[in-house]
Amino acid sequence: MPSPSPPSGAACIFCEIAAHRAPGYVLYEDADTIAFLDLYPFTRGHFLVVPRRHGARLADLDEADRIALMHTVDRMCRRVGRLAPDYNLALNAGAAAGQIVFHVHFHVIPRYGEANPFHPRPRVALDPEDAGRVVATLAAP
Ligand code: 5GP
Ligand code: ZN
Repeated sequence: MPSPSPPSGAACIFCEIAAHRAPGYVLYEDADTIAFLDLYPFTRGHFLVVPRRHGARLADLDEADRIALMHTVDRMCRRVGRLAPDYNLALNAGAAAGQIVFHVHFHVIPRYGEANPFHPRPRVALDPEDAGRVVATLAAP
């Protein structure tokens, strides 16, 4: 079983959001997973899909949590079309791959026709007013 919190005992922000001890714009949640908006979105509606139980990488999760995570990824990817027809699904595993929060998560990034979706762009903090509209769009079943 993966540990319920980081081995170091340090607070993990995604564990905190999953436990509702830290705020998040939640789009979906069930017993095993949660999806919420990224605080520094690449595009409007960029969100993360996260297992409730802590693990840094997919390999740190037990099989049931891996399956539950993929079910929620599938469920949420089918909602993205409400914002944009195209999207990227990404997982960064390890610092060299760009992982900065070491609680496994998939990024779902709606795409609106940027010339080069992988070109780095400045990221600005989520606008709370617009975040409310995105939640209304994506949280509906
Ligand atoms: P990584 O680079 O680890 O794959 O992605 C981590 C993501 O988490 C980044 O896109 C970053 O903007 C997002 N993030 C970091 N801290 C927070 C936070 O406190 N709340 C939310 N909602 N997202 C966060
Ligand atoms: Zn965690």
